[in-house]
Amino acid sequence: MQANLKEALVVRVTGSEVRVDTQDGERVSCVLRGRLRKEDKGVRVVAGDLVQVMPPRQGGDAWTIQSLKPRSSRLSRFVERDSSERVIVANVERLYVVASLRTPPIHYDFVDRVLVSAQWGGVSAAVVLNKTDLVSQEEIDGFDALYRSCGYTVLPTSVLAGEGLEVLTAELGTGVYAFVGASGVGKSALVMSIDPGLDLKLGEIGGKTGRGRHTTTFSQLYRFGRGYLADTPGIQTFGYPGSEPAELADCFPEFETYAQSCRFLTCTHSHEPDCGVKRALEAGDVRATRHTSYLNILAEVEARAKRSGR
Ligand code: GDP
Ligand code: ZN
Repeated sequence: MQANLKEALVVRVTGSEVRVDTQDGERVSCVLRGRLRKEDKGVRVVAGDLVQVMPPRQGGDAWTIQSLKPRSSRLSRFVERDSSERVIVANVERLYVVASLRTPPIHYDFVDRVLVSAQWGGVSAAVVLNKTDLVSQEEIDGFDALYRSCGYTVLPTSVLAGEGLEVLTAELGTGVYAFVGASGVGKSALVMSIDPGLDLKLGEIGGKTGRGRHTTTFSQLYRFGRGYLADTPGIQTFGYPGSEPAELADCFPEFETYAQSCRFLTCTHSHEPDCGVKRALEAGDVRATRHTSYLNILAEVEARAKRSGR
C-alpha cells in the first residue's frame, strides 16, 4: 500500500462527487478514479462503502478514490429496467425496523418487507416497537412473541415516556445504523432522543420538489452517537431486491426448518401439496401475517419474472 493512501468511509455520493470521512476524521470531497468511474461496469460507490483515498498531490488537485473494499452487507432495491439490484447503502451494522401498534396502526406487510430487504443483503435486523405508551402489556407481549418466533429481537420503546431508550442506545456502536419504518411511527423522535445533536426528518431528505415528492434513491450518512445513521429514503417501497422467487423463502428465517419437510424441493410454499411451511402455518408455528407477507412478495416477484420473459 502506498504510504499516503488513507482509509475512508463514504458518507454521500452525488453525481461524480463523493464525500468521505477519512481515518483522520477529516471530511473531504473526492473524485472517482479509473475503473470506479465506469458506473455501468458493475461497481458503483455508495454511502457506507469503505474506500482508500489519495490526498491531492499538489494544491488544486482533487482527492481521489483509489479502491473500494468488499462489502460485508448491503441494502438494495430492484431495478426493473435491467432486472438487477441497485445497492443503496453498504456495510450496515444493523437495521432497526420501527413500528407502532397504534397511530399509525401496524402494517405487518411493511415490517416484513423491510426485514426481507435486510435479510437479503446480509444486514442484521431488529424490530423496535415504539409508542408502547399507547398500548397494553399484552399487546406488546404478543408482538414480541411474533417476531421473536422469527428470530428477531424486539425492543419496546416509548420516546414519550422515555422507556427502552437506554437498551437501544447501549446496542449502538461505531458502525452504520438504519432506522426504517412507516411515516409517523416515531423514527425521527427516536433517533433525536438517542442523539440530541441530530436534527432531521428521516426518509425525506432531498425528497421534496416543486411537483411533490419524488423518490430519491441516494442515501447518506449522518454522524450519530459514536457511529453513523443511514438515511435510506424510500426503502420501504423498493420491495424484494432479488429476482429469484426461490431465494425469497430464505429471507424468512423461520421457514427454514419446516421447508425441509416439503415434498418438492422446488416448493414455493404457496399452492403445492404436502408443504412443510403450510403445515407449520396450520399448526400456528409459522405466523399467518408472515406467510401472507411472503405470498404478497412472491406474487410480485413472479409477475416481474413473467414481464421480463423468464
Ligand atoms: P417519523 O415519521 O417516523 O419520523 O415520526 P416522528 O418522529 O415525526 O413522530 C410522529 C409523531 O409521533 C410525533 O407527533 C411524535 O411526537 C409522536 N411520537 C413519537 N414517539 C412517540 C411515542 O413513543 N409515544 C407517543 N404517544 N407518540 C410518539
Ligand atoms: Zn413448501
